[in-house]
Parts: sequence; C-alpha cells; structure tokens
Amino acid sequence: MASSLIPPGSTIGILGGGQLGRMTALAAARLGYRSLIYSPESDSIAGQVSDHVQGSYDDHGALARFAAQVDVITYEFENVPEATVASCEQHKPVRPGRRPIHFAQHRLREKEFFRKSGLGTADYQPVGSEADLARATAFPGILKTCTEGYDGKGQARVESTAELEAAWERLGRRDCILESLVDFDCEVSAIVARGLDGRTRCFPIGRNEHRDGILRTTTVPSGLRPRTLAEAERLGVQLANSLELAGLVALEMFVTRDGRVLANEMAPRPHNSGHWTIDACATSQFEQLVRAICGLPLGPVDVLVPSRMENLIGEEANDWLRYVSDPTARLHLYGKATARPGRKMGHVTYVLKSDASPSRS
Ligand code: AMP
Repeated sequence: MASSLIPPGSTIGILGGGQLGRMTALAAARLGYRSLIYSPESDSIAGQVSDHVQGSYDDHGALARFAAQVDVITYEFENVPEATVASCEQHKPVRPGRRPIHFAQHRLREKEFFRKSGLGTADYQPVGSEADLARATAFPGILKTCTEGYDGKGQARVESTAELEAAWERLGRRDCILESLVDFDCEVSAIVARGLDGRTRCFPIGRNEHRDGILRTTTVPSGLRPRTLAEAERLGVQLANSLELAGLVALEMFVTRDGRVLANEMAPRPHNSGHWTIDACATSQFEQLVRAICGLPLGPVDVLVPSRMENLIGEEANDWLRYVSDPTARLHLYGKATARPGRKMGHVTYVLKSDASPSRS
C-alpha cells in the first residue's frame, strides 16, 4: 500500500469538467493536492477552480500529455468512453478504473451485474427487437434506453404492448430495457468509499425525492427503520466489493412498500445525493474520493448535524439572495453561465436543528 500512496502536493487528473469535478478539485485543494481537469469544453466550470486542459475524449495524444502531468486519474461522470480510460491507464493509475464504467454505462449490463452480485432489482427484460416487444410482460413498466439516459431522459412509462411499441419507436428503436414499475415507499442512496486496501466506508443513507426523474432533495437522517438502513448499506458495500473499486460508488435504491430494498442504478463517482456531506458530515464525499484514490485512510462519516439538500434547478438559482440570507442554508453555486430548464445550477443544504424544519422565508 505504501508504494501506491499519492501524497498531498501531487496532482489529481479529473476527466470531465462539471460540478462534480469542481467540488472534487475544491476538496483536493483543501488537502494540499492540485487538480488538472481534462474536458472537451474550452472553459469548464471545474476549470474555474483548478487547472484545465482542453481535449476531446478520443484524442489519445492529448490524453497522454494530460496523463504525464498528473499522478492519478479519476473521472467525474460515468459516460466517459471506456477507450479514454484505457488510454489513460497506459500511463497512470485510473481509479475507480474501467470496470465500474463498463457496467454503469449500460443499464442492461448494470442490472445483470447487480443480480450477479446478489442485489435484488425490479423485474426487467431487454427490448432491442420486434421479437422482444412481443415477449414483453413487465407492465406497467418503464422503458429506458440502455445508454445515455440520465435525469429521467430517454425514459417512458408504458402500460401495454401497444404503448411499448410506440415508446420504443419514439426512443429511436435503440437498445432498451423494460423495467416493471416498482411500488416504492421511498428512494434512498448509499455512497460507499473503498480504499486501495479494500476497506469500505458507507456514508449514512440519504432519503431522496425525485421529480420528473430529477433528484430534488436528499434528507439525512432519513427517518427510516434501522433494518432498512442496514440493508441499504449492506447492498452498497456489497456492490463496492463486487466492483473491487478504489474510489466511490453511489447506489440508488427503492424501498418497497413491503420493506424490500431493490437496486436501481449506480454511479462510480461522487453523487448528487451526497452533496449534503460537504456541510453536514465529518468528511465530504469529495474528500473521501480523494482519500480513496490517493491511498489515504478513509475519513469518518459521522453526521454532524441533520440536513436537507435541495437542488437548484434552472431559474431557481436566481433566488441566491434568499439562500445567502438564511442562516440555516449553505449555498453552493456551480458557476454555470446560463440557466436552462432542468439544468442543475447549484444546491443548498439546510442544516437543521434536530427539532426544527428549514426556514422557507
Ligand atoms: P433512473 O434514471 O433509473 O434513476 O430513474 C429516475 C427516477 O425515475 C427514479 O429515481 C425513480 O423515481 C423513477 N423510476 C425509475 N425506474 C423506476 C421503476 N422501475 N419503478 C418506479 N420508478 C422508477
């Protein structure tokens, strides 16, 4: 382990220039690391707070030059092409590596991996041909594209074979997965760090609310029964071990009305539902990522104060004055120039006294 230690003063390379890269770079800087962002945009929001090189994900020469300037590489989104990661791996360690994105980039592979790892899921079936349409029985269900869907995009609710056929046409007859609709009581997520030595640590389970497929709030403590929380944590840790990753993995889950916990989706990177940790946990998820990939001991994950994180989507971020005026609110803006509908512009974490609800004035 000592030989793989990457000490403060080293440089972390980050593939991707969005808010997750930005917050990782901020946490890295706090521990004395430099960060170098690699992204196709000329001015990324992560590049506002760290060094930045522009390059496309298939420019292997540019990737090699980037790798030469850093000591370890991570990625801030799971849709970075596998070939990009493979290219970087020839020069420097990439953590969490290629394997987690291989599964996380493709919903069908991901579900199969969950099942193989012993995690329960909704019933599902592949939809990639006319024959699959005829075989489909998972109704009511949600049809999702296998690749490139996020925040509810590339999804359609379907009640029958006829609706399924129409939805599949609309989605461009692409490879899809039909999942049966889960009658859930709530949604939760486990964010698990796994170090180079294989040790794991799970952040306290957050309870998530989505609207139109987009995460709106995460609340910790979640108020769920200890048995449910223990099961959610067990599944998250099992997944991290099964992936054998060094870094972070977030597992989004459904808690069904009959008390089961089912895996929905994973992301091998910091996750929106872990933003609360910056203001309300002993170690933030971003610092934990830095610790995990640099071979440092994982940090404590005690909840310092109850909290609720709310995403600021589109024009909501224009209300920044309200949030900075509220003593219970911790405002984070991502530096994005234009607010488009559905675009995550920032978040606010309300730190709550145990007996208080957040100020809404
Ligand atoms: P996903 O992109 O898979 O994370 O889906 C976005 C959101 O849609 C989830 O967080 C749920 O709120 C809802 N959703 C997705 N799949 C299902 C399902 N099989 N049953 C019920 N709700 C779902």
